Amino acid sequence: MGALRDFVADLLDSEGALIEPVEPDGLDVLAPEKVRNAMGWPELARLGFGAQLPLGAMPIGLEGDWLDRFGTLLGDRGRFAERQLVLPVPVAAPGDPERRLNGVLDLRNAIWRLRDARPMMTRCLLLAFRYTATSDERREGLIWLGFNTGTGAALEDDMVDRLRQLLANNMEWLAPDPEARPQAGPACDASILAERIRARLDHLVRRDLDYFLRAMRRRLDRDCGRVHEYHADLRRSALTARASLQSATGEKAEADRKRESMRVAAIAREYAAKLDDLRHNYALRVKVDWVQGLVLFAPVHRYEVLIRRRKGERIVAIDWHPAVRMMEPPLCDWGLGLERARLVCDDHLHLTDLAGQAPCPSCGKAWCRACQDPTCPRCKRTAPSSAKIQ
Ligand SMILES: [Zn+2]
Ligand SMILES: [Zn+2]
Repeated sequence: MGALRDFVADLLDSEGALIEPVEPDGLDVLAPEKVRNAMGWPELARLGFGAQLPLGAMPIGLEGDWLDRFGTLLGDRGRFAERQLVLPVPVAAPGDPERRLNGVLDLRNAIWRLRDARPMMTRCLLLAFRYTATSDERREGLIWLGFNTGTGAALEDDMVDRLRQLLANNMEWLAPDPEARPQAGPACDASILAERIRARLDHLVRRDLDYFLRAMRRRLDRDCGRVHEYHADLRRSALTARASLQSATGEKAEADRKRESMRVAAIAREYAAKLDDLRHNYALRVKVDWVQGLVLFAPVHRYEVLIRRRKGERIVAIDWHPAVRMMEPPLCDWGLGLERARLVCDDHLHLTDLAGQAPCPSCGKAWCRACQDPTCPRCKRTAPSSAKIQ
């Protein structure tokens, strides 16, 4: 529980509390009034974080509402920060940039050429979102997204994880150098970024929830099967009872037949109501909240790549990140860009997913979804958008 103790010690220290470590794995806290009120502690509190508590300590752990109380104390602080990544040791740029670029660039209808390479400072945005999915069960998770606003690229999950690990492990927190900001260039267009975040988040939340959803569907199918079986049995026996009364005559037989018919109808109604209950019980609600953001000023090696398609040319920037020794993927003007393959459009040389230039399913006309909305310019039918995940 060392990490929790360190976090609590830092938080209380920033709130003006006096802290003294006490063994095993505890803290003595002399708390100011604000902390006492938020946490419900006396002025002098002894906290214990491990399985073994110091004498007279109050156990603090992840269970119960401790995290909520610390969250209240923390408020909105720490939600957004800027920091500079400084390499502990210099890292030489790759000696074979073309080969590295070949590893990330797969242009299906255009050629490219490396035009320039130089060290730069860039601005990466790392954002954390928490999702909560609730149906008959509940699942929570945290998703991190990364963007390089200097190149417009969405960083791969693996790269984001490695950057975060690097920042979390023994790297000193440094505020951005005043020169880093102008070097990193202007921040990117907020509306474009918001759309990319939305599409990517949607994809990642669905991917994370895939197993949860499949397990939920299995339980739903099982319950529907049970309800169906139970009511089918009831219905069968009611129908058999009614059939056995078929040939009987007289007022009593007529009343019995009517009663069995009503039973059959009641079983059908009950079955429908039970299915409705199940639908309600298994209805899925997913809530996604932004929790944290970090602007990271990071040194990169920037490659300017000239892309040629027919008579058009465009220069795109692709960064190699020395901190994690990885080349980022090229930007993607339309689609999530999860695959390496890109198509380049004729008019504006947009880089898109393959689906971003796909032919219209109705009339066969191919067009660039980054240039125009998802409506086919020829027959005006709307194609499904891969940026909006199905
Ligand atoms: Zn285009
Ligand atoms: Zn069409």
